[in-house]
Amino acid sequence: AAKRAGGNRLQVFSDEMRVAVKERIAAEARLRAALAGDREAALPVWFQPIVSTATGRIVGAEALVRMFTPEGTLLGPGHFIPAAEETGLVVPLGEHVLRLAVRHLVAWTNQLPYISVNVSPRQLAEPDFVPMVASVLAEHPGLDPSRVVLEITETALLGSAVDVRDRLEAIKDLGVRVALDDFGTGYSSLTWLQSVPADVVKLDRSFVAGLAADPRKSSIISAVLWLARSLNMTVVAEGVEDPDDWKALQAAECPSCQGYLFGRPLPASEFELMLPFPEAARPRQLAG
Ligand code: C2E
Ligand code: MG
Ligand code: MG
Ligand code: MG
Repeated sequence: AAKRAGGNRLQVFSDEMRVAVKERIAAEARLRAALAGDREAALPVWFQPIVSTATGRIVGAEALVRMFTPEGTLLGPGHFIPAAEETGLVVPLGEHVLRLAVRHLVAWTNQLPYISVNVSPRQLAEPDFVPMVASVLAEHPGLDPSRVVLEITETALLGSAVDVRDRLEAIKDLGVRVALDDFGTGYSSLTWLQSVPADVVKLDRSFVAGLAADPRKSSIISAVLWLARSLNMTVVAEGVEDPDDWKALQAAECPSCQGYLFGRPLPASEFELMLPFPEAARPRQLAG
């Protein structure tokens, strides 16, 4: 009977695999179509605030891509980034996201200090990656490049043919900043810190959620904060949902926070309502 149950389970699993393969093929076709058409409509970039821990004021935003299917269904990146990575479509997709995010950043000059954009390992490995970033920056001559942060995950380091360190140095030569995304979840976080010229550590939400009630988590956070400070890096705590966790991050003097407590990712037109009124457009009588 045990053997039969095992056999059945195997059967179910391979059905699931078949579905997964079908979904992957469908995802690739959708992505190709989206990139070929009106990219801004099919692949909008949403923005989530990053706030100063001390004040709760917006200091930056992370750009997060979304996808509308032709039927009008909204998909999160988990539904198409893996297929984009596998097929290499993440290269044109990533360029689209960066260009769109930077365009918004320029429109929000005086309202939003910086924008943070995810870069996939596949993108980073492209020989054209650094020239691509340079050409997007060159589209906005007045832009301070340090207002652009590129988020890299630890997997970019592993099994990559290119020297990631050299590539990141070349990116930093453009004046943009580099963040280590999902910090603490990989196998070699300390290797990261030792070998990568980054400016920002984004502490993964698994260390942040439930922090106030877990002394081990708060010890880890204190240690990472100390380490980051020693290495001249700043820290963003990801996934802050709970006011008690925010208080604990304030007590630990973590510089900045991101999470549903401060705002979910929103379309640009809604996100900008969270920003302070632009200085230049402020009515005279109020500017006083
Ligand atoms: P990430 O870069 O670590 O982005 C943070 C993710 O956590 C976002 O999910 C965000 O919506 C979610 N999040 C933020 N605050 C909270 C919170 O308080 N609680 C919880 N439970 N979640 C929170 P999203 O937008 O679904 O993106 C998922 C991942 O997809 C991103 O993780 C990133 O790795 C990838 N991604 C998103 N946009 C892009 C892109 O343009 N290019 C590439 N290569 N990857 C992207
Ligand atoms: Mg990120
Ligand atoms: Mg992250
Ligand atoms: Mg994360």
